[in-house]
Amino acid sequence: MHLNKIRNFGIIAHIDAGKTTVSERVLFYTGFLRKLGEVHDGQATMDFMKQEQERGITIASAAICCHWKDHTLNLIDTPGHVDFMLEVERSLRVLDGVVSVFCAVGGVEPQSETVWNQAQKFGIPRMAFINKMDLEGADFDRVVEMMDEMLEANPVRYQIPYYKEGAFKGVVDLVSRKYVTFENGQQLVSDDIPQELNDDVNKYRCELIEKIAEFDDEMCSYFLDEKEISEEMIRTVTRKCVIRSLVTPVFCGAAYRNIGIQSLLDAIVDYLPSPIDKGEIIGFDPDNTEKSVARQPSLTSPFAGLAFKIIHDPYVGQQTFVRIYSGSIKPGDMVWNPGKQKKERVGRILRIFAKDREEAAEAFAGDIIALIGMKYTTTGDTVCNPDNPVLLENIQVPPAVISIKATVANRQERDKLVIALKKLLLEDPSFTFHFDEETEEAIISGMGELHLEIIIDRLKSDFGIVVQPGEPSISYRETITTEGNANTRYVKQSGGKGHFAHCVIRIEPNAGKGFEFVDMVKGGAIPREYIPAVQKGIIDAMENGVLVKYPVVDVKVVLIDGSAHAVDSSEMAFRMVGSLAFKEAFKKADPILLEPVMKLEINSPDQYLGDIIADINRRRGKIGSMRRFRKGSQKINGTVPLKEMFGYSTTLRSLSSGRANFSMEFFRYEPLPRETAETVLREFRSKETAGVK
Ligand code: GDP
Repeated sequence: MHLNKIRNFGIIAHIDAGKTTVSERVLFYTGFLRKLGEVHDGQATMDFMKQEQERGITIASAAICCHWKDHTLNLIDTPGHVDFMLEVERSLRVLDGVVSVFCAVGGVEPQSETVWNQAQKFGIPRMAFINKMDLEGADFDRVVEMMDEMLEANPVRYQIPYYKEGAFKGVVDLVSRKYVTFENGQQLVSDDIPQELNDDVNKYRCELIEKIAEFDDEMCSYFLDEKEISEEMIRTVTRKCVIRSLVTPVFCGAAYRNIGIQSLLDAIVDYLPSPIDKGEIIGFDPDNTEKSVARQPSLTSPFAGLAFKIIHDPYVGQQTFVRIYSGSIKPGDMVWNPGKQKKERVGRILRIFAKDREEAAEAFAGDIIALIGMKYTTTGDTVCNPDNPVLLENIQVPPAVISIKATVANRQERDKLVIALKKLLLEDPSFTFHFDEETEEAIISGMGELHLEIIIDRLKSDFGIVVQPGEPSISYRETITTEGNANTRYVKQSGGKGHFAHCVIRIEPNAGKGFEFVDMVKGGAIPREYIPAVQKGIIDAMENGVLVKYPVVDVKVVLIDGSAHAVDSSEMAFRMVGSLAFKEAFKKADPILLEPVMKLEINSPDQYLGDIIADINRRRGKIGSMRRFRKGSQKINGTVPLKEMFGYSTTLRSLSSGRANFSMEFFRYEPLPRETAETVLREFRSKETAGVK
């Protein structure tokens, strides 16, 4: 196994730019698809799950292995919708390079920008493929310009398109100066460049060399001395520039018409990084997270990998997708999961191809494989050699900001629902659920309306559970604005053994810093062994909320004093008193509700801006900036409370005759204005009293 012959890459794109079609053609040309399934036939290979097929979008990331020119390519699927930012993040964590697909007509859309920035944040090398060059209105130069202006991608043309009588005929490869056409999916390469393109070929080839020579001394001197620069030198220097994210080579084609895929595959092999280029990965010593630990991409270093996706497959059971960063594993090996403090046995190792899976006798650094038989490992966990533990950085989960109530027919269905939700949670840790004790409804929270819809759909299609979803509602948070104190006793004397616990606490606002617990009890006033119970009780109360049953965040709790009884005190009693004291102190500390505020981005033609901005202002939104996005269009950035954004896509469509588009992602929690908070509290209380009756 040569690690430099592996390419772990993903395709990122705005919805509809053609990511699914490009992925499919990639798998077709690499030889594993006999037939070209169309997205609208619901045959897309990457679309593992039924919902994806129905919606025509891709939500789950998985990796598919294929081969091209003596190289192993692992295509890691990345979702396009921002409701699945977590999916985007985790796939970006495990891939080494990205092909960004743009639509030749739409160009750089807000979502492609969001994902692009995400890739930039992770320092992932990128190439661009401008798709749909066959469409009327396709404008290669404009998309390159947008990449430059909006993404600061330093785009460099590696191909230019050729049109004849308005029809997209093929491309000229600027490195080899060859004319490439496509017939019945076959690529034909010729030396005869269409006459009318000669000037452009010279101009853009020169520009290409000039742009990359800047980053390579040898090439730069060749250029200045006007010496002949070989194709090989161009490729070598390009590879270096891409790996260091200095330039973005631009290719083009029309995936739907099977144009441009082979040269894209060549470019992936030529320019995107191998696991060796990616270099070492830095993790932590699990026993001392201050200490960093490096793992080399080599077969001789100790095994370390990151579980990035779990998929339940009806035939093989639970598949845990793992990116291996160092060392190797075989079936039967024991691995250590430092986060869960569990040892696990690797059952089988599978390599997943487009149409089949292959049992592997061993898997190596750089590989992306599915492990069968993992019991404890969930998304984001590290697995490593038990004698050489390392903890790789976990995957950040954005908060679940929107909830729905889901009712099922009876008790039996409810038990099935719990099992199903727990399974789904293993795959997708970005949602949460709990049951309302009184109404017995399940409350499922996620990152957006679409995210919740998909969970409901999957309950039905994968587990046969039909739930009645209610209207989506906002997941608020509760917090405090001043200090509060409590001196609380829990005393029960009812015949048999009594219960006694007593604690004194102070709580303080802890904005942005989450929950903190400080134990200042002196002289064993509360025996050591009961202190964790007090903390647990406080966490119970925080999770269930005090004002309106929303989780409490950003509070520091100081345990000051207390007392215990030699016979009647117990962990249970201290847990109880922790909860009671917290609630008491919380009510005295001027509690407020917080609401999720989203980052919003809108692209719109100039003539609709006035109406759109007025509408955003009505929604309590704040406009941060506005800049020209393309001729006659502006990009508006701002923030807006999620509460005001239900059904926004319909409004925006009607405000702009369907010509503006938007994207939204979680920004932060902010205090809910007093009047709105009062309405929420009133509604909650009236429901409570209705429930009690
Ligand atoms: P995704 O949402 O990015 O995965 O995009 P899809 O691959 O589902 O493509 C969206 C639509 O564009 C589908 O109807 C495709 O058939 C169509 N499409 C994809 N590539 C091309 C292309 O190169 N030319 C044309 N004309 N249509 C395309």
